[in-house]
Amino acid sequence: MRVAIIGAGPCGLACALELEQRNIYPDLYEQSYRVGYNVPMVQALLRVLDRQGYRHLRHIFTKLGFNFKPLANLHTLTIRTSRRSYELRGDLGILLERGQGEKALEVQLSKQLRSAVKFGTSAGYNSLAGAYDYVVVCDGNSNTAVELKIVEKTYSAWLKGAVLLGDYDPGTATLFFNTCCAGRGHACLLPFSRERAMLLLLVTGASRDEMEDYWKDFLYRTKLEPEIVQAFEIQHLGLLLSKQRVGNILLAGNSGGFSDSLLGLDSLSGMASGALAGIAIAENMDYDRLVEPIVSRMRRLAAFRDILDTLDSSGIDRLIRVATLPGIKQVLSNSNIDILSLLYPLVKKRPAKSFQA
Ligand SMILES: Cc1cc2nc3c(=O)[nH]c(=O)nc-3n(C[C@H](O)[C@H](O)[C@H](O)COP(=O)(O)OP(=O)(O)OC[C@H]3O[C@@H](n4cnc5c(N)ncnc54)[C@H](O)[C@@H]3O)c2cc1C
Repeated sequence: MRVAIIGAGPCGLACALELEQRNIYPDLYEQSYRVGYNVPMVQALLRVLDRQGYRHLRHIFTKLGFNFKPLANLHTLTIRTSRRSYELRGDLGILLERGQGEKALEVQLSKQLRSAVKFGTSAGYNSLAGAYDYVVVCDGNSNTAVELKIVEKTYSAWLKGAVLLGDYDPGTATLFFNTCCAGRGHACLLPFSRERAMLLLLVTGASRDEMEDYWKDFLYRTKLEPEIVQAFEIQHLGLLLSKQRVGNILLAGNSGGFSDSLLGLDSLSGMASGALAGIAIAENMDYDRLVEPIVSRMRRLAAFRDILDTLDSSGIDRLIRVATLPGIKQVLSNSNIDILSLLYPLVKKRPAKSFQA
């Protein structure tokens, strides 16, 4: 069987590794000359936010034939609003490194790969669909979904980030809400190690030109005086699609709508979708059905982003104050109760401000 994969990000690599487990060796097309973003970053999968999604992902990953090591287990989450700071402790999730370093997720995955990667080759689904039995689109953008007319909604944000030097606890993450951009975004500080961390500011619906002002305002209000060694700006486009397969073309990862619109931090859902695309192809299974639980997770996260974007500073303060009241905090940190799934039926009918049809 001939399979082409467009994009050797975490999703494309996971798809290839899954196919290899079943003795299918795909051709990977990668427009860059090596795997990984040229800026290092840290991503987090927050178990505390979405236990159902986290359990499902863990289930998928325990069944897969490839391995990767997280940077650290997350034991403390500090949530800072303009008025107060709250802390959650427990088994809260994991942190992953991204980029081109030895510990980066994509570098770990690429070392397990045996298939050929055609580096420096930009590919399109149109030219490959006739030559291969299947084409898996993992190029991280919305172009294919737009052309195939399967986009339901899009969500756009600009991110400004920086790698910082300082003194950090590798198991602690900080989320900043409502310090400069209540109703439009948030920021996070995630450590690579004791000496290095990533600071990321995400603003929904902002233009690139506005990001510098948001960034300055954020640093001023939080009184952070970071020692910045590398800075970057990236546009993120989230998608919700009506389906993930059209003929012999399967869409996975960010291009299939598997992107975390709530915090913009989760790369494992995209990777899981890539692996499931590989399984669907090799075992002739229904891809749309296989990924349905992950699609539901993406929809839950997007619905909560919409709610967050309607709250002003005091609304966010109230929400976080309630979530961190002693009994509720205990449930959030350590029990198996799934807060997002519990609240989702209440929020999903609300108007979606940040989505444009
Ligand atoms: C700064 C930053 C912000 C992020 N924000 C978010 C966010 O808000 N929400 C979220 O869920 N995730 C976000 N992510 C994470 C990231 O998008 C996902 O975690 C994950 O990388 C998606 O994996 P992927 O494999 O689908 O796509 P990618 O990691 O983007 O990989 C796609 C690969 O395809 C290659 N490619 C692209 N076009 C072509 C082509 N035509 N031919 C061949 N190769 C091609 C690219 O070079 C790249 O290697 C962010 C990442 C960064 C670095």
